[in-house]
Amino acid sequence: MEYYAVEEFWDRAAISRAQTVRLKNAVERAAHSPYYREIFAAAGISHETIRSHEDIVSLPFTSKDDLRYGYPDKFLAVSTKALVRLHASSGTTGSPIAVCHTQDDLDVWAELMARCMHMVGVRNTDVFQNIAGYGLFTGGLGIHAGAERLGCLTIPAGTGNTRRQLKLIRDLNVTVLHIIPSYALYLGNALMDEGVDPRSLSPRIALIGAEPHSEEIRQRIEYLLGVKAYNSYGLSEMNGPGVAFECLAQNGLHVWEDAYLLEVIDPETGERVPDGEIGEMVLTTLVRRGMPLIRYRTRDLTRILPGDCPCGRKHRRIDRITGRVDDMFIVKGCNIYPMQVEHVLMGFPEVGENYLIVLERIDAMDQMRVLVEIRSEYFVEDMRALTSLQRSIAQRLHSEILVTPKVELVQQNSIPRGEGKAKRVDDRRNIAS
Ligand code: ADP
Ligand code: ZN
Repeated sequence: MEYYAVEEFWDRAAISRAQTVRLKNAVERAAHSPYYREIFAAAGISHETIRSHEDIVSLPFTSKDDLRYGYPDKFLAVSTKALVRLHASSGTTGSPIAVCHTQDDLDVWAELMARCMHMVGVRNTDVFQNIAGYGLFTGGLGIHAGAERLGCLTIPAGTGNTRRQLKLIRDLNVTVLHIIPSYALYLGNALMDEGVDPRSLSPRIALIGAEPHSEEIRQRIEYLLGVKAYNSYGLSEMNGPGVAFECLAQNGLHVWEDAYLLEVIDPETGERVPDGEIGEMVLTTLVRRGMPLIRYRTRDLTRILPGDCPCGRKHRRIDRITGRVDDMFIVKGCNIYPMQVEHVLMGFPEVGENYLIVLERIDAMDQMRVLVEIRSEYFVEDMRALTSLQRSIAQRLHSEILVTPKVELVQQNSIPRGEGKAKRVDDRRNIAS
């Protein structure tokens, strides 16, 4: 099988050996930062206490709040002279955090990203359109660098302006796209509205990531854009994209364990959960120099997929992210994740590509409303059909989440969408009370 980097086909023994050496180095490097110097000193930790990568469990966790507290420089392990780039998270769950990189860090990141793209069949003969924000968001420059490293003709298209995106795709015979799932659906609908057969267009691969999406959404994207879509996972704290990526088997994302040490824990107890069980993913940077992070609690929920991947790679796979620990909301005592709602909605062929969960407090009672876009061809005047659809959606949602929400069917493209990550929950309860 063709591969991009030797590390990609390391066996478990090689991965373990490298992780042991690299974890030791990571701890030594981290100790140069004011934050870890203090924490390690207080707990008597040094790289000399690390004998194996399994010793990771003796190290303290680092949380998003720690990063916020350490902003902007307490986590830096090198001098400003050695730093060449700063990125920040999108700030989806609060004030953003910043991550600084050395030139070495950027090179490693580009290599990892190129490895991901190569794995799904992207080559230097491809024309690659990067439909992502070029700014602090890492999906822009991060994936751009990987595509150039691989030798693709790379188009930094940025976000928005659907007409121009489609013109670029057509004029330049683009073969590979990077696009966030919610925008991919929007773009696909725009094509459908124009009556264009996606199979008449040149793209054959889409890299989709940056926000949670269900398997049903992937299949819709593949259908609407006429591509194979591969899930791309990353977070600014771990560079950005290039942390975990689906292979051609489209069954779980390989975490590049030569660069990241992977753990999945119970978010309540901090203990590791067995493979196959959902928990919070915890990642450690093994090779980063500018800003090493030890046992970073990602707040992302997933599970390690047991067993070997048919592609032969031994880097372990995680399941698609089901959401963030923070995404969970409680209605009438039931814990609900937006992904559960999405899963139900996308099972209905009449349902379009966008939805919004609105939470309100009316007369001291929690109310959950789900606004659901309906495809134009189903948005007919037959009230009976729509009422019956509304009822079936509410019933199926009830069996999934144990709450019966009010379902409102709305026209395609009527739910406002921004240019970035989709907002699935509008919780108005605090404002109301
Ligand atoms: P923010 O946390 O502010 O959104 P980032 O832009 O760094 O900052 O985004 C990283 C986060 O995006 C991840 O922690 C995860 O919650 C989400 N994410 C990234 N890729 C995926 C993916 N493929 N599937 C689901 N969620 C993803
Ligand atoms: Zn695989």
